[in-house]
Amino acid sequence: MKRDGNKKSAWQTEEGFENSTINTLDIVYDVLVVGGGITGVSTAYRLQRAGKKCILAEAHNLGFGTTGGTTAHLNNFFDTPYNQVESDFGKENAQLLAYGAQLALDTIKENISENNIDCDFTEHTAYIFSLDDKQDESLQKLVDSSNELGVEMGFINDSPFPIPYKRIASVPGQAQFHPIKYIHGLARAFVTLGGVILENCRVEKTDDGDIITAHTPKGEIRAKNLFYATHIPPGVNLLHFRCAPYRSYAIACTLKDGKYPQALGYDMDDPYHYYRTHRIDGMDHLIAGGEDHKTGDEENTENCFRKLEAYVRKYYQVDKVAYQWSSQYFEPVDGLPYIGNLPGNPDNYYCATGFSGNGMIYGTISSLLISEMIMGATSAYAKLFDPSRIKPVAGFHDFVKEAADVVGHFIGDRFKFEKIDSIGELSPGEGKLVKHDGHQLAVYKDESGKVHGLNAACTHVKCIIAWNSAEKSWDCPCHGSRFDHEGTVITGPARKNLEKLNVQKE
Ligand SMILES: Cc1cc2nc3c(=O)[nH]c(=O)nc-3n(C[C@H](O)[C@H](O)[C@H](O)COP(=O)(O)OP(=O)(O)OC[C@H]3O[C@@H](n4cnc5c(N)ncnc54)[C@H](O)[C@@H]3O)c2cc1C
Repeated sequence: MKRDGNKKSAWQTEEGFENSTINTLDIVYDVLVVGGGITGVSTAYRLQRAGKKCILAEAHNLGFGTTGGTTAHLNNFFDTPYNQVESDFGKENAQLLAYGAQLALDTIKENISENNIDCDFTEHTAYIFSLDDKQDESLQKLVDSSNELGVEMGFINDSPFPIPYKRIASVPGQAQFHPIKYIHGLARAFVTLGGVILENCRVEKTDDGDIITAHTPKGEIRAKNLFYATHIPPGVNLLHFRCAPYRSYAIACTLKDGKYPQALGYDMDDPYHYYRTHRIDGMDHLIAGGEDHKTGDEENTENCFRKLEAYVRKYYQVDKVAYQWSSQYFEPVDGLPYIGNLPGNPDNYYCATGFSGNGMIYGTISSLLISEMIMGATSAYAKLFDPSRIKPVAGFHDFVKEAADVVGHFIGDRFKFEKIDSIGELSPGEGKLVKHDGHQLAVYKDESGKVHGLNAACTHVKCIIAWNSAEKSWDCPCHGSRFDHEGTVITGPARKNLEKLNVQKE
């Protein structure tokens, strides 16, 4: 199974999806779901089960996006703490969010049992620990607000994690699974119900109408509704200015003393570290994550793995780091995701984005909400997650900060180019922004010594891309578009490849 990065995630030992779908493009579908991560597969399954005729188009393979690089903790609490949601959106909405999380957990369990999906699903208690006084204050607020909303959380005296803490709270009823086994299982159920899956089928553009026509390399797909389950919608949209791209790092390692925690764990650092155990190919592995940063902000992304590993080694007797990988997520400016009608588009276009590090749950909530909207039902969640919402207070400061960051990247990154006399100065495997012969270029020298030159302006809104040395991709710090070393789009929102420049001759 392929993923959108150079590093191998712990889930990539899975084979690709065995697709028995028959390619039928001569009918009008009720729904075209674009994207084969947890959001797309869960929604396509739900709609097909409800009697809608659905087709799912995935640009690469199922699980290629962040779902293939997640750590798959399943929680009824979120990165945005309930106390913050309550103060920004009101208690009623915080309560709705808490119900939604539980509903999503129950839906995942139901999907698994209804379809006998063997995806290593297990339930555990989660532990959240503060490391200093300031974090402890935040933890107290989190515990108080969660309990008020009926999310059970309480301080305890013992920890299954060998990490010193100030105080620790336990949260029963959490879970974990193998994300790829889960989406493959759901995709099989979808196909059995008559759903169609087309892999290697990027939706390149669409024509609006009561019946939308989507243009793909496999032909035109016609559907009454289109749902962009693409993690961030493609093209230029209001939502790109309300979501900021971040990268998080994970390692899966074996332990010398075999003391694997049978629990989910989180500290309250910013960015926080997260832990759990998973049996991969018959062997237990500790999966630890953290070292998050804004996309493009870290010059040496390999270094983030080294820092994460060093941190984990301080507390665990690490034997071997078997897998290490990183992936991208989108942080919404006001702390809640955007799920519903795609702003600035006709009513039959839908989207779901801004999931922070909680996309297993928000992807599942999206499957419930988008299905209800397409089926014409009303949902209490439509208003809370409305992508066109304007919250003058919630997220205003973050909005200004993110907008300033984008402007900073737009202008500042133009001075990042290093002047080099000869492209030969690059080392094999190195990517750099360079000024050469009066041109500003993004250049990468592959292991065979071949130099690949690209126009460094992202094709989305012309921000300057940055080299991600670990995942070997050109990443846009403004809105998260990613390109391979030949300039081909890996993930949107950009739709167009980077312009290739012939540097060999120069
Ligand atoms: C390191 C890391 C750890 C995380 N851990 C957790 C966790 O423990 N728990 C949790 O709940 N969340 C976690 N998250 C967040 C979660 O993994 C994501 O929010 C979630 O996987 C997003 O799923 P998705 O289906 O919306 O998007 P994706 O999985 O990114 O899927 C989108 C798909 O759309 C396809 N696509 C894009 N454009 C097109 C197009 N034009 N045509 C056709 N196909 C297209 C892509 O190829 C891709 O496969 C984590 C995130 C990271 C980065």
